[in-house]
Amino acid sequence: MQFTELGLIPPLARAVAAEGYTTPTPIQEKAIPFVLSGRDLLGLAQTGTGKTAAFALPILQRLSELEKSNKRPKPIRCLVLTPTRELASQIAESFTTYGKHLPLNNAVIFGGVGVEAQRQALRAGMDILIATPGRLLDLAGQGLVDLKPLEVFVLDEADRMLDMGFIHDVRKVIALLPRARQTLFFSATMPREAQELADQLLHDPETVAVAPPATTVELIDQEVFFVEKNDKRALLVDVLHDAKMSRVLVFSRTKHGANRISEHLEKERISAEAIHGNKSQNARERALANFKAGKTRVLVATDIAARGIDIDDVTHVVNFDVPEVPETYVHRIGRTARAGASGMALTFCEVEERHDLRQIEKLTRQHLPVVEGHPYESTIPMDVMPMTKTPKQQNGRGGGRGGGGRSGGGGGGGGRRGGRPGGRR
Ligand code: AMP
Repeated sequence: MQFTELGLIPPLARAVAAEGYTTPTPIQEKAIPFVLSGRDLLGLAQTGTGKTAAFALPILQRLSELEKSNKRPKPIRCLVLTPTRELASQIAESFTTYGKHLPLNNAVIFGGVGVEAQRQALRAGMDILIATPGRLLDLAGQGLVDLKPLEVFVLDEADRMLDMGFIHDVRKVIALLPRARQTLFFSATMPREAQELADQLLHDPETVAVAPPATTVELIDQEVFFVEKNDKRALLVDVLHDAKMSRVLVFSRTKHGANRISEHLEKERISAEAIHGNKSQNARERALANFKAGKTRVLVATDIAARGIDIDDVTHVVNFDVPEVPETYVHRIGRTARAGASGMALTFCEVEERHDLRQIEKLTRQHLPVVEGHPYESTIPMDVMPMTKTPKQQNGRGGGRGGGGRSGGGGGGGGRRGGRPGGRR
């Protein structure tokens, strides 16, 4: 099936084509027609299956076709509730990309950052609001969020939301919604609690289930380096002494970080370029072409910039930051070991990131071997876990993820790999 057969209006079809999508993914093929028809949907799919476009495209189409009010501030017509700020940003970016030829705007609200810009956005109004539950409730409590005009509600990653202890917040948000609305419920798994929530929220839903994206985790040789934040760049230079690391994709959480890493590598005479959303399309394409042609050895990318880009023969993926969303780890390392080849993934983990590493081990059901004896090894013993995350990393309101799963202990992961003097490989 081609995208053109899905009945998308021309402004959306153009945006999709500009992204280079020609064939819809299975979740898109199945879900888009139902959502367009106004039905409720239970989507069993995880991140990486193309589920964001599966809901964003038909929502944009419906909102552009349904009658629009001229009220000011603009009423919120669609709410997407998602567990983490990383997902919230990615979803907002998708709405912006797909909706660029439509007169619909979106805004994103999450905790851990200043609240003033979000207040202003709410005062101006938006068609689509993407939010994490805690901050949304804070702002709703201040009378800044009116969800009564809502037409479409999306609950994204419901199972993760429950895992993170957000169920009470989610229920409070639901209490603010109008009864008459379209509801789309996405979850990778359906534990009992998620099923109960779905039963309560959905009205005569269509169920669409898709297989998780093929994970090549087993084929990828993975290692973790415990290191302090300030030593990560030096560690990267050190591991790059290995000539086998000939085509290396380094992931950085932030654009700024990506720039700094590539500048540092260049200073150390290692050819590197950064790609991220602040670079022009031309600059990104050039960097990509140089990397593909082998002119640049290291490409430093943010997750969003690396999405959808197809690079084969990446010998190594380096997680310069441990991703906050565990599925992101699977996406990242899947960039190596393409087409059945084996590959290697190195993860640099500072003490604050040890909890995120644990979540990755849980998701992938594996213990990541830890490299011991490298020159920048953290002096903080492996079994030390910070009791709480720093505010920078917290999601939603101060309380964090709840669920009690963050007390100390847990050891440093499973197998440990013997010392490699000099960290060379
Ligand atoms: P998601 O599961 O929504 O996080 O999407 C995973 C990735 O697939 C994103 O990088 C999207 O840009 C990309 N993507 C979504 N739909 C398609 C498609 N039909 N063709 C190619 N790439 C896609």
